[in-house]
Amino acid sequence: MCVCVGLDENYTPIRTYQVCQVMEPNQNNWLRTNWIEKGDAQRIFIELKFTLRDCNSLPGVVGSCKETFNLYYQETDSEVGRSLRETQYVKIDTIAADESFTQGDLGERKMKLNTELRIIGPLSRRGFYLAFQDVGACIALVSVKVYYKKCWSIIENLATFPDTVTGSEFSSLVEVEGICVNDAEEETDNSPKMHCSAEGEWLVPIGKCICKAGFHQKGDACEPCGRGFYKSSSQDLQCSRCPAHSFTDREGSWRCDCEDGYYRALSDPPSVACTRPPSAPQNLVYNINQTTVSLEWNPPADTGGRNDVTYRVICRRCSWEPEECVPCGPNVGYSPAQSGLVDTYVGITDLLAHANYTLEVEAVNGVSDLSRTQRLFAAVSIATGQAAPSQVSDVIKEKIQQRSVQLSWQEPHHPNGVIKEYEIKYYEKDKVSTVRSRSTTATVNNLKPSTSYVFQIRAFTDAGFGTYGPRVEITTKEENAATVVSSEQNPVIIIAVVAVAGTIILVFMVFGFIIGRRYALAVYTCFLCLFFTVKFPGTKTYIDPETYEDPNRAIHQFAKELDASCIKIERVIGAGEFGEVCSGRLKLPGKRDVAVAIKTLKVGYTEKQRRDFLCEASIMGQFDHPNVVHLEGVVTRGKPVMIVIEYMENGSLDAFLRKHDGQFTVIQLVGMLRGIAAGMRYLSEMGYVHRDLAARNILVNSNLVCKVSDFGLSRVMDDDPEAVYTTTGGKIPVRWTAPEAIQYRKFTSASDVWSYGIVMWEVMSYGERPYWDMSNQDVIKAIEEGYRLPAPWTAPWPAPAHVGLLAEGPGERPKFEQIVGVLDKMIRNPNTLKTPVGTCTRPISPLLDQNAPDFTAFRTVGEWLEAIKMERYRDNFTAAGYSSLESVARMSIDDIMRLGITLVGHQKKIMSSIQTTRAQMLHLHGTGVQV
Ligand code: AMP
Repeated sequence: MCVCVGLDENYTPIRTYQVCQVMEPNQNNWLRTNWIEKGDAQRIFIELKFTLRDCNSLPGVVGSCKETFNLYYQETDSEVGRSLRETQYVKIDTIAADESFTQGDLGERKMKLNTELRIIGPLSRRGFYLAFQDVGACIALVSVKVYYKKCWSIIENLATFPDTVTGSEFSSLVEVEGICVNDAEEETDNSPKMHCSAEGEWLVPIGKCICKAGFHQKGDACEPCGRGFYKSSSQDLQCSRCPAHSFTDREGSWRCDCEDGYYRALSDPPSVACTRPPSAPQNLVYNINQTTVSLEWNPPADTGGRNDVTYRVICRRCSWEPEECVPCGPNVGYSPAQSGLVDTYVGITDLLAHANYTLEVEAVNGVSDLSRTQRLFAAVSIATGQAAPSQVSDVIKEKIQQRSVQLSWQEPHHPNGVIKEYEIKYYEKDKVSTVRSRSTTATVNNLKPSTSYVFQIRAFTDAGFGTYGPRVEITTKEENAATVVSSEQNPVIIIAVVAVAGTIILVFMVFGFIIGRRYALAVYTCFLCLFFTVKFPGTKTYIDPETYEDPNRAIHQFAKELDASCIKIERVIGAGEFGEVCSGRLKLPGKRDVAVAIKTLKVGYTEKQRRDFLCEASIMGQFDHPNVVHLEGVVTRGKPVMIVIEYMENGSLDAFLRKHDGQFTVIQLVGMLRGIAAGMRYLSEMGYVHRDLAARNILVNSNLVCKVSDFGLSRVMDDDPEAVYTTTGGKIPVRWTAPEAIQYRKFTSASDVWSYGIVMWEVMSYGERPYWDMSNQDVIKAIEEGYRLPAPWTAPWPAPAHVGLLAEGPGERPKFEQIVGVLDKMIRNPNTLKTPVGTCTRPISPLLDQNAPDFTAFRTVGEWLEAIKMERYRDNFTAAGYSSLESVARMSIDDIMRLGITLVGHQKKIMSSIQTTRAQMLHLHGTGVQV
């Protein structure tokens, strides 16, 4: 091997490693690189450029001439010198030339460069060596480019995401936490995250940072609010001008200070103007009635800029001469209150008779207590007349009889004159009576025995009646029981009632014994029938088996009991929650035998397990539709207990699609979706909400007919491995469930439509996992923030979100009826499936699909094929001479077929990617590619 100088295509001299020992057999020549430190990278790209001589072009060579060489690597943690043995290297690939064999003499030839790309990883040691083994070819290795990919540091939603090396797998997303830029903070419970894809692109931004109080966003940074502006909270978007009567002479203020004489109440937000106390109330007038005064006034001329003005009254009692005033104290009453008055009047009671008072009325608002300026009020001076006596309290029950009560009491604390008499008011229910007494005792007669009465007493002077004292409740004594016999207690009547009741019970017992429980259940069931017939005339309606008191009754109403001898179990095909799922044959008398799936209930089951197991059959048995899995019957009288269902040869849809990735035409995929939608339309019309619609719960038969399956009530969630516990309680398959069902368990046919949208995406992407490897929590968050699954970019199809299936509001989503209609139209006009369908709100051109990767960034055809998961055809492209992306972008469907790619799904996938690449090149360079 030598280090030589050759010429490239442009006849420029280049340095190469060459070997050409084609004449001698058993060649084993090695070339090894220096130790390459890999840093953080886990997935390394190796791009080789080399020339290779065609053995046929070498005159006189024997059979030992080769046209390939081998590429190896070896991971180590440090440089190991020459100690590595050849056998320790790990082979990456045998590298062959593409069409570019080099012709002519070694010395003066024109080199034809081959470019090959290989990827190694995940790597775990600190570095590695690459080695090239020649086994007898005539090669010149021109360049070896070793690189890895990373997502470059960016600022998104005010968070900085550092340079991030991509993950180890092609499909891995590396989750990266963002760090808020200066003067920004994380939004509560919404920390910023992004995902670095294997291709070095940032995807799915979640959460964000927001500028702190006093700062606002300018581009990717937070800047302080200017003088005279403020921002009180990080939640506000913009800085605002200081409100009236406030100012700030600093930058970055979160609030503005009040001007002198103006204030902000504690409850005032920074956005309201500063205010001041109100002026005094106007036009205060009064009216005296004995020892009661009423005041009225008009509102103040200036409310201080606020609308929370109330009034308070300050009462002072003054001596005659010299005038000295003291607070009125707690014995004075204010109606409705002394302070916090909203209306412009107040009544003041219980003033002393023949006394002088000063009454002040002050208007106050939310900042009155903050102000140190002088109080402003309106005042009047008044003199009271004679007062009525105060309340009579301390009433004593002296004697309680069957028909009379004797009471005594104390004179009021403030008689305010000579008490002339007392009035005793008593009432039973609504009937009020009074008696009078000149002394402080009274006996009230003519009462009813065993009756509750309420008594109140008030005093009377020349100034009138005082107010009634507190209520005193007294029950008169019972009358002697022997004297009266009421009709209800008459023993004759009691005996008669007991006899009649006994007879009725006896009749019922005999009747029940003869007719039995079945009749009662039949009546109950009949009531149900009647209920549903009345509710939905003409429509068959789903009946929840849980409404049946006896689950056996439900199962036999909806499912046929089969004789176990008609069933032949052949083999186990799966595992269900309650036992094995088998395939077999069902031969009913007089009918042809049919293939069936048989779900069995494992031995040792509890009664609840048996009920839950059969519940699925009670539900399934109510349905009869070509796109809903059909129940043949059940075996409940023998063991094992079995549910017999029509056999669906291709099993569940998700596994089926993954197994046949890319192998169906779009029409076939749309046909599957149409079937699922029709099944769901039927179920929703019956009033059945599925709650767990997902590709794994769709079964496929040998004719590619899809049928909805997996029915149950709560157990649906229990046996779904995708279901996880959410904060609202209960297990939910988060990736498939509408937000309103996750948040407050609102499961409806509209939430089934959302799940259908996810199924549509699963189908069009051949069983890809929705939201890839994002965590459930991130999915919930991303959905809340408006992120939706993009269109599977290989399909000529709008994203489910674009046709409203994943609309936020359940009412905005289409009905299954409409979905079936649209799919039918597509199937009738297959041309619409070659170009974007017109039903989406945003027309999506497959030629410039926003969700597609940037194909122009790929430098080799190999990388391009890998990106569209078609790397299996790398050799086909190489062999046919498509070595540059430009040449691929010019390919037609005929060219694709000429490569030997026969699967229609793959042809379409590649063709659609070619169209996108072409469109991107056009977009990028402004020039088209000649096709
Ligand atoms: P299940 O308990 O309904 O989830 O069923 C468990 C597995 O058994 C499914 O994932 C299917 O692979 C298979 N299976 C269930 N029902 C049928 C059927 N009717 N025909 C064929 N395979 C079925």
